[in-house]
Amino acid sequence: MANYLHFSVDFDWVPGSEKSVPKLFDLFQKYQLRPTLFFTGGFASAYPEIVQQAMHLSYEIGTHGHNHGLDSKENFGPETPYQVQKELICRSTEAVSRITSVQPVMFRAPLLNISQITFEILCEQGYTIDSSVPARRFDFGAGCVGNLASFFRPSVPFSINTKHGTILEIPPSACILPLNMRLLRTFPFHFVRCFSAILEKTNRPLVFYMHPTEFVYADDLTYPKGDYRGFYHNCGPHNFAVLESFLALMQARGIRSEYMAKSLSESCGG
Ligand SMILES: [Zn+2]
Repeated sequence: MANYLHFSVDFDWVPGSEKSVPKLFDLFQKYQLRPTLFFTGGFASAYPEIVQQAMHLSYEIGTHGHNHGLDSKENFGPETPYQVQKELICRSTEAVSRITSVQPVMFRAPLLNISQITFEILCEQGYTIDSSVPARRFDFGAGCVGNLASFFRPSVPFSINTKHGTILEIPPSACILPLNMRLLRTFPFHFVRCFSAILEKTNRPLVFYMHPTEFVYADDLTYPKGDYRGFYHNCGPHNFAVLESFLALMQARGIRSEYMAKSLSESCGG
C-alpha cells in the first residue's frame, strides 16, 4: 500500500507570522495538499479571516494551545495542573469554534509536550485526535524534546485511553530527528532526501509539521527573544523554495497528501 503524507501547520501566537500565510496557501493549492492547521487561540482571534479562509478551502482545523508563541511558558506537560490546562484548551477551542461554528476535534500540543492530564481534558472536551507524542525523537538539548517515555511510543497511529473514551494519537514522524521544516532548513537537501526515504519505510503515514514563522524574517516577528533556543535563526521567505523542493520530492515518490481525520476510519496499531 502506498504511503501518504499528513501535512500539518502549527500557528503559534507570534504576530508577524501571518505575513507568510497567503504564499503558503498558494503552495498548498499548487501541490494539492490536504493540510491540517493547528491554531493557537491567540492567532485565531487576531486573524479570524485566515481561519475562515482555511475553512472555505476545506482544510482541517485543530487547536494548538492559547498563547503559545508569545507565552514561552505555556505547555501541557505533567507539571501543568489540570485546571490550567483545561482553561487553555477551552479558551482556544472557543476562539476557533467562534469563527468556524464547528467544534475542533484535533489537537497538537505546544513544544510536543503533552501528558495524560491533557488527554483526559481533550476527551472531556470532545476531541478525538491528537498529534503531539514525539515518538522516536530525541533532541539531545538542541530542541524541546527529550523524553524517553515518549521516545518509545509507536511511530504509527495508536489509541490512548482516558476515563471518558479514546483519543487517536497520530505521532509527528521522527527517527531521532523530526520530519519538520526546521530539519529542511537546517540540513542539506541530499540529507533530507535520504532521511525521508528511511522514514517512509517505518512511518506510515508520514507526519510533517511546520510553522508560518519559519517563512518570515526574525526581525519581522514579535516573540519573546531568547526563549526559543535560536529557533528563529534562518527564518525567512527563502524557505518557501526549500519547502517546495520537499513537496516536489514527495510528489516524485508518489506520496500524496491526505487529511489526518481520515485516519479515524482506519484501524489503529500499537
Ligand atoms: Zn507551536
